[in-house]
Amino acid sequence: MFFAISLASAASPYQPLGRVAYLTSSFGESRGTRYHAGIDFSTDMEEGWPVIAPSDGVVEFAARGAFGYGRYIKFKAKDEHIWVFAHLAEFNKKIDDLIRKEMLKKEKASVQLSLKIRFKKGDTLAYSGSTGIGNPHLHIEYRTPDGKVALNPCKKMTCTDTIAPSVSEAAPFDSGFAVKIVDYSREPLENPMSIYSLDIYQNKKLLFGKKYDSLPFAPKEMAKIKNDLIRVEDEENIGDWHFIKAKVKANSKVLVVAKDFANNVSKTELMLKSDYLKFKAKDSVEVLLDTVPPDLGSVYFKTDFAGKLQCRIPVIDSLSGLEFNSVVFRDKNNKWIIFDYDSDPKELVIEDRDFNFSEQLSVKLCDKAKNCMERELSCNN
Ligand SMILES: [Zn+2]
Repeated sequence: MFFAISLASAASPYQPLGRVAYLTSSFGESRGTRYHAGIDFSTDMEEGWPVIAPSDGVVEFAARGAFGYGRYIKFKAKDEHIWVFAHLAEFNKKIDDLIRKEMLKKEKASVQLSLKIRFKKGDTLAYSGSTGIGNPHLHIEYRTPDGKVALNPCKKMTCTDTIAPSVSEAAPFDSGFAVKIVDYSREPLENPMSIYSLDIYQNKKLLFGKKYDSLPFAPKEMAKIKNDLIRVEDEENIGDWHFIKAKVKANSKVLVVAKDFANNVSKTELMLKSDYLKFKAKDSVEVLLDTVPPDLGSVYFKTDFAGKLQCRIPVIDSLSGLEFNSVVFRDKNNKWIIFDYDSDPKELVIEDRDFNFSEQLSVKLCDKAKNCMERELSCNN
């Protein structure tokens, strides 16, 4: 007699940071003109948490920049799906060596590189950080093998959410109506998130239904957010107004069934308030005249999470902001120097592995209005 015994069974769920972390942003949240195509995990305001490979696979792309994703990698998993890990403080050394070489070759602080570096499941691919953005956190995307569609990463890991969505208001709007929903995942109620699905009934008849399973990256698809999560005049602006293209009478009742990504469901019966919602006019953009060149504050030292000594140079910002691509550091032999830009607070950062702090350094930088400054400085004072 033979028994087939499965040992594959209870593998513990993937933890991208190798420990329990909580969500601060969910899949499909509004970012104004687009949806948030991934999830964010808090790293408790710390940098340097290891980012763990979800399976065997290949890091096939790495980039380093001051804005947007900051430092990030694309990892092709065994199942061909692509994982993106962003706002990293540091890459795995094999990746970092190649990126540094590329920076020196191109004399650029923003570079991207196609690679093919193999990793095993559980290996450390990189370390979490805050590059490209303010607060330290790990941004994760889970993409289809062709890279064109974002899928919800919570299908591949545990995203704890113990609080059902809360539906607070409904009102006629344009050619239909809108309902206001907020979903929190934990106490304290700090980060409002998106929901997973929405079904709306009137007199037991389904009027409308939608689900957020995937988000195509094509700009035309992302732009559909403006017809989905609408911009309205709202004093209390926490939560999303979901537009429902279905005609119902003002002052009639609808049943709103909202589900979050952890399957918490809320069922709310609401009366549509008449004459309540108004379109929100676009926020005006003020153009400021900038005639003052940027300046630099006093240099100071800091040790990063890995114990590396950093020379940090505060940027005294002009009205228009720094033009990052025009920042250049050179040593006394005119050799280009690798540096970083931190956006919060605004500081230029040089590490002592890239530059000998006892040498004089020359810096050249411009703001977006093309006011420039040049100066010699020392990381040794
Ligand atoms: Zn994010």
